[in-house]
Amino acid sequence: VQQILLAARPKGLPTQSTFKTVTVELPELQQNEVLIKPVYYSVDPYMRGRMNDTKSYIPPFEVGKPIESGGVATVVESKDNNFHPGDLVMLTASRPLLPWSTASIYPASSLKKIDNNIPPSYYLGILGMPGLTAYFGLLDIGKPKAGETIVISGAAGAVGIVAGQIGKIYGCRVVGIAGGAEKVKMLTDKFNFDAAIDYKGNNDIQASVAAICPNGVDVYFDNVGGEISDGVMAHLNNFARVVLCGQIALYNSTEVPVGPRPQPLLLTRSVLMQGFVIGNYATRFAEGFKDLVEWVKTGKLKYTETTMEGFDKLPEAFLGLFAGKNSGKLIVKV
Ligand code: NDP
Repeated sequence: VQQILLAARPKGLPTQSTFKTVTVELPELQQNEVLIKPVYYSVDPYMRGRMNDTKSYIPPFEVGKPIESGGVATVVESKDNNFHPGDLVMLTASRPLLPWSTASIYPASSLKKIDNNIPPSYYLGILGMPGLTAYFGLLDIGKPKAGETIVISGAAGAVGIVAGQIGKIYGCRVVGIAGGAEKVKMLTDKFNFDAAIDYKGNNDIQASVAAICPNGVDVYFDNVGGEISDGVMAHLNNFARVVLCGQIALYNSTEVPVGPRPQPLLLTRSVLMQGFVIGNYATRFAEGFKDLVEWVKTGKLKYTETTMEGFDKLPEAFLGLFAGKNSGKLIVKV
């Protein structure tokens, strides 16, 4: 089988040479084991953090070992009565991450079948980790109230699109920030955002936010950090909530980023700013999943994904996240 390994820890933006493809032999299948082959992989921004040798909420990738990411697989061969060739499966681990390998062997007890009535890639997007991140981040930390203004950075991505639509379900005015005219148009035309700001070539985000949010910002759902967030934070209202979800603009920084210090403004305006990792909500996933499924079924939540085809496209897909190649969830179909 083919595997894609972490070849070296990147400094700054990863490149193709961060990865290395090798061919290895799998051992023979034993009793109660299942041979699976990946069907869909998710590539996610947080994986950049795992390429650094630093202590975090999830251990770093090891150099010379396969990269791993969210995935849905199909059973190829089974020595367990509960699984049969063709079954669609995911891992049951608290972090259900598949190695980047064209096939792998697992004990049957570490696999679960997934519902065939839902498109499998949804488990990696709107009904999976990114959807739950939008749900709990916005509702539990952002606490949106009808009539409030929500601003979302990274709005055209997997998390942002869902967060924005949930904001609309809660009766808020939702403004997205994304890169490029096409993405901005997609947010307002297809995803029900009230307005959207194109940050590319825009050197005064603060002025754009002021113009589009005349009543200020009550909830800022931050996926990107950096200068975009500096521009939004200047317009926070009294008792605003800042949901620190992601900081993708800073993930490849080689130096500690410097910028305005917003603390005096946060203090005088009684702003709450809270970071979170979605794993904090593991005991409540069923609750989020239930609402997300319901909203998808009733058409309140729309979905889009960008699909790249081929196992060998995994590195390119991952690198594409940092160049904004995706609209909605970035998926690799093997
Ligand atoms: P996306 O689908 O949003 O993909 C990343 C997007 O980020 C790109 O499409 C690009 O869109 C934008 N981007 C890339 N580089 C920059 C930059 N330098 N400045 C501004 N925007 C940039 O990814 P996800 O929806 O999966 O994740 C969104 C954020 O949420 C990430 O920061 C991620 O780490 C975080 N996250 C946090 C979780 C948590 O538990 N806290 C869980 C899941 C995700 P554009 O074309 O608009 O620039």
